[in-house]
Amino acid sequence: MTQKKYERKAVVKILEDRCKGCWYCVNYCPTKVLVISDKMNAKGYHPPEFREDKEHVCIACHLCELYCPDFAIFVEELK
Ligand code: SF4
Ligand code: SF4
Repeated sequence: MTQKKYERKAVVKILEDRCKGCWYCVNYCPTKVLVISDKMNAKGYHPPEFREDKEHVCIACHLCELYCPDFAIFVEELK
């Protein structure tokens, strides 16, 4: 049986309509797994997007959650 090389450490939830497009989360994410999306939310801002294709690089550091001034992003650690 082959072992998975990487394990996903967290699920990052984004409440897109709370976002005000400051991109602190994108700028402070140490692994650059958050990017600015092309979508536009109800307030007219581009919310962040979690790169599902790079999910394993998220280190569950919670910085995105801590820096978000609008409580729009949450990190749920996977055990
Ligand atoms: S830090 Fe919060 S408000 Fe700012 S871009 Fe990220 S989710 Fe949006
Ligand atoms: S928990 Fe850390 S590594 Fe994961 S998306 Fe947030 S800031 Fe980036």
